[in-house]
Amino acid sequence: MAVRVLALLLALLAGGVGAAGAASKIRVVTTIPDLKSLTEAVGGDLVEVDSLTRGVQNFHEAEVRPSMMLKLRRADLLVENGLDLDTWVDVAVQGANNANIIRGAPGRIEVSRNIPVLDVPTARVDRSMGDVHPLGNPHFSLDPGLAPIITQNILDGLARVAPQHRAAFERNRQEFLTRLDSEMGRWTKTLEPVRGAKVIGYHPVFVYFLTRFGLVQAGALEDRPGIPASPQHVAQIIQLIKADRIKVVLVEPWNDVKLAERVAQEAGARALVIATSVGAVKGTDSYIAAIDYNVRSLAEALK
Ligand SMILES: [Zn+2]
Repeated sequence: MAVRVLALLLALLAGGVGAAGAASKIRVVTTIPDLKSLTEAVGGDLVEVDSLTRGVQNFHEAEVRPSMMLKLRRADLLVENGLDLDTWVDVAVQGANNANIIRGAPGRIEVSRNIPVLDVPTARVDRSMGDVHPLGNPHFSLDPGLAPIITQNILDGLARVAPQHRAAFERNRQEFLTRLDSEMGRWTKTLEPVRGAKVIGYHPVFVYFLTRFGLVQAGALEDRPGIPASPQHVAQIIQLIKADRIKVVLVEPWNDVKLAERVAQEAGARALVIATSVGAVKGTDSYIAAIDYNVRSLAEALK
């Protein structure tokens, strides 16, 4: 009910904005900052992009706020991650009352399309038990090897709402991928000496990235995705770290860093806070900067 009242309020507010002040840029809203950065890469100066969440947040648990609805109210395009990471956006879209971006509309893009999904559960997942990855691992956006697929999906969506700019979008995307490709060569070289190394994740947010660079997540601190570690599970992980001489426990800025540090210390490893998204840690304000940060800090920690 609160959502309906809010929608009414927003409709009233939006009446004051109107077409007169409308900018000529294509207004894009993304659910997470990685997609903002990638949309800016493809859209260049033809787009104005806003993200509904910030890099320091746990995207699984984003809270729908009136400010989200206000952003969505004016959007030409909504870019979402999919695979159940950001389903909360449906509530915000409902409150935004914008036909451009409802599910199935041309202005709605889900970038998980064509992504080779990892960690797809083999048994049926009971969501009521709190497992937040029922469709497989949704944290693919910071694997630079998947950026070609993601940016293709973004390009398709942009070209759908602004077909006259398709050639410009294609040019921007190509430029970005060329740059990413040369960085990729450097990143692969940087991580080459530690290839095959095992790490522990806190939440399995880094599986795509690790797989890309030949590293292995040997275990996760959470019992299952989204389910806090039980004391027994923590003890098992400590054993595993000791037995396999694992050097690093990866931890997301939004997770229980203290627990990760305690486990790492007890087992003789170290906890490493990683950029789970663009903007998650200092100095990761763009897509390439975020990957670069992760590559460098991992290479250093695994030495
Ligand atoms: Zn997750």
